Amino acid sequence: MKTLAYCGLNCEDCPVFVATANNDNGLREKTASDWSKLYGAQLSDYLGKNSLSPEDMNCSGCQSQSGLFIGCMNCPIRTCAQEKKFISCASCNEYEICGILNGFFSIHRNAKENLDRIRVP
Ligand code: SF4
Ligand code: SF4
Repeated sequence: MKTLAYCGLNCEDCPVFVATANNDNGLREKTASDWSKLYGAQLSDYLGKNSLSPEDMNCSGCQSQSGLFIGCMNCPIRTCAQEKKFISCASCNEYEICGILNGFFSIHRNAKENLDRIRVP
């Protein structure tokens, strides 16, 4: 699937992806507000501020080489899988034991389900 992120999320379900695809400024504003509460402090080093603006809410998906949302651009899972030249973490022999991936899966069960479906044991 072209929009499957390295971590297993489906970017087509992401509001930033949808807002970008539809040039939907209302959805950009709502998502900037929602994600500022969730990720603002976490992303402050990259953003140089503590909250996200509608202008920050653009993304062409995790498999894109440019135009990514800043949080996903700096995602350690994406960086690690790219360095190993995998299409996703489902190809990795550390899949079952990877601490960072399993930490992520504890919050995003749907990402695990997506990768479990394509994983070849
Ligand atoms: S890479 Fe972009 S579209 Fe995919 S989850 Fe991250 S912000 Fe959303
Ligand atoms: S070690 Fe493997 S499973 Fe963990 S983030 Fe890197 S590519 Fe993904």
